[in-house]
Amino acid sequence: MSTSAAGYDLTPLTRDQINEKATHLTDEERRVLLDHGTERPFCGTLLDNKTAGIYDCRLCELPLFSSDSKFDSRTGWPSFFQPFDEEHIRSIEDSSLGMVRTEVRCPRCESHLGHVFPDGPKPTGQRYCLNSVAMVFRETQGGSSQ
Ligand SMILES: [Zn+2]
Repeated sequence: MSTSAAGYDLTPLTRDQINEKATHLTDEERRVLLDHGTERPFCGTLLDNKTAGIYDCRLCELPLFSSDSKFDSRTGWPSFFQPFDEEHIRSIEDSSLGMVRTEVRCPRCESHLGHVFPDGPKPTGQRYCLNSVAMVFRETQGGSSQ
């Protein structure tokens, strides 16, 4: 069993477990998470969410991002400058569409989350560009998101 610094079990789910969880997804969620699709910009439900909380993986509920690192990138997708925990994000080189980008996936269920670009704000300089449907927002108490 592997555990992240934040204390979460990162043991990859089996194909059966993923299929079981995927039965609860909508067609759009399935298209993005499992078929590596991208939702249309400016329609994601989490784009303008400014409430303090945690963004979990839609499929397996692993915490992916905190509202502390969310920023307005004006791209039309929810954007973050750092993950909740470095180990809660898996980066994969993606050369589809004729350009090289870095895809980000959930390390536990392999779901497609979005992409990361090196043009984000300080302190990381990273811009994690996410699909709203890939995440579930969970409000935290008292304004602290840790
Ligand atoms: Zn996941």
